[in-house]
Amino acid sequence: MKKLTKITSSIGPKSESREVLTNMIRAGVNICRLNFSHDTGDVQGAKIDMIREISNELDTPVAVLVDLQGPKHRIGNFETEDKFPIEPGQKFVFDTDPTPGNSQRVQLPDADVMKSLGAGDRILLNDGKIEMRVDAVSADKIEATVIRGTEIWSRRGFNLPDTEVATSVLTAKDRVDLDYAVTKNPDWVAISFVQKPEDVIEVREFIKARTSRPIKIIAKIERPNAVERISEIIAVADAIMVARGDLAVEVPFEKVPAITRHIVRECRAMNKPVIIATQMLGSMVNSDFPTRAEISDVATAAYLRADSTMTSEETTISNNPAFVAETMAKILAYSDADAIENECVEGCVIDDTVENDWSYSVASVAGLNNAAAIVVFAADCDAAMQISCRRPDMPIVAVCKEQVIASQLCISRGVMPVLNAEMFDKRDAFAAARRCGIDAGKLVVVDGEEISLRTIK
Ligand code: PEP
Repeated sequence: MKKLTKITSSIGPKSESREVLTNMIRAGVNICRLNFSHDTGDVQGAKIDMIREISNELDTPVAVLVDLQGPKHRIGNFETEDKFPIEPGQKFVFDTDPTPGNSQRVQLPDADVMKSLGAGDRILLNDGKIEMRVDAVSADKIEATVIRGTEIWSRRGFNLPDTEVATSVLTAKDRVDLDYAVTKNPDWVAISFVQKPEDVIEVREFIKARTSRPIKIIAKIERPNAVERISEIIAVADAIMVARGDLAVEVPFEKVPAITRHIVRECRAMNKPVIIATQMLGSMVNSDFPTRAEISDVATAAYLRADSTMTSEETTISNNPAFVAETMAKILAYSDADAIENECVEGCVIDDTVENDWSYSVASVAGLNNAAAIVVFAADCDAAMQISCRRPDMPIVAVCKEQVIASQLCISRGVMPVLNAEMFDKRDAFAAARRCGIDAGKLVVVDGEEISLRTIK
């Protein structure tokens, strides 16, 4: 059984050669994520060109995802050492002075943050290892008390879990990166540190002003205020990424699995794909074998029926990214098949809206007839994505005429895009199914409003 859950893989120093990328795509990677926190401009552009070339050579649709750095705050540098000791109870100051810091103060380059903070707000540094509480704030200074932590490192992340920061979700760097990225026609753009639905709308307008290509937007959920407004954000975004790295810093970590579960369910009900991200096979940066907990984490994503899992450092800096992709694909394929065999699909209640009735009909007809596949003629992404959100047990073959539609559908659970204008024009469901290795059984064919049942022999 082929896996139904998709794989999004971050591409970095160890995975950007033609050979490694080809092997990763052969192993089952569906979306290549280019993280603009690291390389930018033409360096990323060359990777996009290579991904497109490999996708053509293999005749396998692959999506390109541009991930913007967003307003991630970091503290400045220190005097002589890279780190300084601190202790609970002491005072610490963040200011706008670029002179190197010490164990009493350090620069916070992003002065906008000072406008948003208030006394009592928490500050978390270095992935939550340090906690401070704000005592007082002025235009150029934050005075705080250390609550937890013993040493402070230069250039570490500065998270504000209690504060809605009044800055644009697009930093000056993001605007330059996105200006460039749209010229390379990515399929998806991911926005980091989304706080509210207006952030997604702002990015959509930025893109619309620069290209007519229907680039889709992923809202990364990593802030508590985004979790609070999740329904509104899902409504305006095209897909969601549960960015568990920063999320587990900004919300109590024990809540992350529950939040993930809720987001997956809500995305399904609202017909939007969802990616679960970060540290899925993280130990494989240094090891050829995942931990038992990681195997279970990847499997859980399949049992939850998320659309996609994601790899981060394990495919950017490990020695064998293709093996990591193969490992993830193997866990997903087994767990997808087991879920179909042994679990009743949860969620009939959550998806049960009038709007979703027709896609339920398609999934039910396919289930009752034990169909080998659902074939959709996809003039756009909507029908295939909506049917995918009903999580039918069988693959959904999406026959596409346009590359952008085939690539964008790579994110959706169970969707196998076939990019072939002739099959699309001739409405050749059988040829499309055969292309996906399905050469016997019943097919539920969806062509606009028309739903038919055919048998392929
Ligand atoms: C995350 O925080 O989980 C994440 C995916 O974001 P990034 O890797 O861009 O920091």
